[in-house]
Amino acid sequence: MFRRRARADREFREAQREAFAVLRMHAPELLPFDIVRAEAPMSTGSASATTMPDFPPADLRAPSRQDVEGAMMRWMQPLVIGGEIRACPTCGAYRDWIVFCLRDDSVWLRCRAGHQVMEPRLDAAWYNRNSGPVDHWHPTLEDGLRHLGH
Ligand SMILES: [Zn+2]
Repeated sequence: MFRRRARADREFREAQREAFAVLRMHAPELLPFDIVRAEAPMSTGSASATTMPDFPPADLRAPSRQDVEGAMMRWMQPLVIGGEIRACPTCGAYRDWIVFCLRDDSVWLRCRAGHQVMEPRLDAAWYNRNSGPVDHWHPTLEDGLRHLGH
């Protein structure tokens, strides 16, 4: 009797573990916004940087200026700013943006075709209100864009 219950428990726990694994696998796609932060390794975990001055190794720090330090998210729906739909000034696209929030609090929009424009009416506060928790860290901007489907 006891043995049979123990096996049932184990089977239940195994099923539960599998279910959690499946959930974890699909969770990123279920988030309303996929948030990516492309930041140089040097600026993360300042506490460990002060206690361990040689970590991370110098060749891992700030690989290049191309690596935008800031957050990025995909914005699929039309972006309404000040009551009007924001369109790309170059190609007229008005949906499927990548929205960047840089370290200087400026917000940039990048359309599907790769045109980038600063949006002075949006700022870090807007970005934080409209973005979810950070769930991915990327070493490069290109890596982040690929991850977001651009
Ligand atoms: Zn465009």
